[in-house]
Amino acid sequence: MKHATQPSNSPRRVLEQITMQRPRCPRCSSPRLRKYRSLVNRDEGTAVSWVYCENEACRHRFKIIFD
Ligand SMILES: [Zn+2]
Repeated sequence: MKHATQPSNSPRRVLEQITMQRPRCPRCSSPRLRKYRSLVNRDEGTAVSWVYCENEACRHRFKIIFD
């Protein structure tokens, strides 16, 4: 069974979209984070970032995993 599809060469084709939320500090929810180290696993396409919170009152350090 065939479905009517839009031509793939149409510039107005609507693309699927996903939303990436910006990482936030787990302690104070601030989005202002400073990365001080990162590691990329090219084979798996994953990455780890070590960040700290730029909120003066918080300065929480944690890791962010990009899966
Ligand atoms: Zn924080």
